[in-house]
Amino acid sequence: MKRLLVQSFGCQMNVYDGELMASAFRKAGYTLASEPEAADVILINTCAVRERAEEKVFSHLGRLRRLKERNPGLVLAVTGCMAERMGKEISRRAPYVDVIAGARSFGGIVGLAEAVREGAGAQISIGFDSPPPDRDVTVRSDPHRAFIAVSRGCDHRCTFCIVPATRGREKGRPLSELEAEVRRLVADGVVEVTLLGQNIDSYGKDRPEGEDLHYLLRACHEVEGLKRLRFVTSHPEDMQLEVLDDLAQLPKMCGALHIPPQSGSNGVLKRMARGYTRERYLEVVHEFRKRDPQGEVAADFIVGFPGETDEDFEQSVTLLEEVRFQQSFIFRYSPRPGTPSEKHFEDDVPLAVKAARNLRLLKAQERVSKEKHEAMIGRTFEVLVEGPSKKDPAVLTGRTRGNHILHFPGAEDLHGELVEVTVESCSPVSLRGRVAG
Ligand code: SF4
Repeated sequence: MKRLLVQSFGCQMNVYDGELMASAFRKAGYTLASEPEAADVILINTCAVRERAEEKVFSHLGRLRRLKERNPGLVLAVTGCMAERMGKEISRRAPYVDVIAGARSFGGIVGLAEAVREGAGAQISIGFDSPPPDRDVTVRSDPHRAFIAVSRGCDHRCTFCIVPATRGREKGRPLSELEAEVRRLVADGVVEVTLLGQNIDSYGKDRPEGEDLHYLLRACHEVEGLKRLRFVTSHPEDMQLEVLDDLAQLPKMCGALHIPPQSGSNGVLKRMARGYTRERYLEVVHEFRKRDPQGEVAADFIVGFPGETDEDFEQSVTLLEEVRFQQSFIFRYSPRPGTPSEKHFEDDVPLAVKAARNLRLLKAQERVSKEKHEAMIGRTFEVLVEGPSKKDPAVLTGRTRGNHILHFPGAEDLHGELVEVTVESCSPVSLRGRVAG
């Protein structure tokens, strides 16, 4: 029996693609290995959004090279956005890699790995679209939660972003196919589904009338047995009021929006070509909270974008403080080869300034998170139990609808259940509590 190990770096879309590839290998008779030493094929599913992520993959490949020297029959495959962006460079820097298959062209991944095993030499599949493998819903890392990609690619052209180059134009999947996938997942024990799209709010733009995010949410919501529904990632320019209505009105929808502002400065937003202003961003948040006053908003920020002045950066700090995000993912700008910002702007913010701004924004978020968490003490929240906490197996970990992490003592058989938990204490990162009543 041949064994496969998938190691995914980067975003949730990569985790999902990893599961699709694992599904295809399982169909071909492979089982899943948990250790590199036990695998016949290792898939490294990569991310190209930041230079650091790519360098991490090269270091990882360096470690796997030693394993391949001991086990020459091992097939090493690099897939995902980094493979799409720099396939030839991977062959040059890591010539021991057997298969390179890009984020748009991994549909034939099993055939490529098998060709290597049969002695056909290294295989490269990049630069074209091939349909991804069908999903085997039983292949997933979490028994109760699952992701579903509703579309691939993105038609925006944010100047810093490599995604349009690696994943291509946006292409939505048929609504009926998505609904059927939710049904199959729920039948297999899933209670929470997160719909994924690089820009989920524009889902349906290439689909027939009646297939957009609003209709998709309504269709998924109807699936019996599903308990929670989420979607990521939103774009302020494409957010529809109907979807905000759905978030507030559909009982299974979790009132949490991940809607990256990237910056609070209109000058920076313009250079990023984000297509909205700070005022428009705040208007979307206002419309969301008007419908759901408890609604939580999560952010992505880039600090040190070309030309970002101290005043520009202060605008990001004040935006964070005004919106009071539940969570902020903060990144230092790093130019990605071939993107408009790399071609047209000088990376002129010194590294030390980027680091200081990163820290300052993190601290601001930490303060906001602490205050938000303190205000939750004494209140009771519905939590989906994800399993034992990493630090203490007698303590369970789950998430509220607003995505707050809550730890509480409880028995393992609550895994996958919705439990009412009263918050008793907190840190900026998480909450602690006790089962209510
Ligand atoms: S919306 Fe912008 S940042 Fe997001 S994937 Fe598309 S181009 Fe990249």
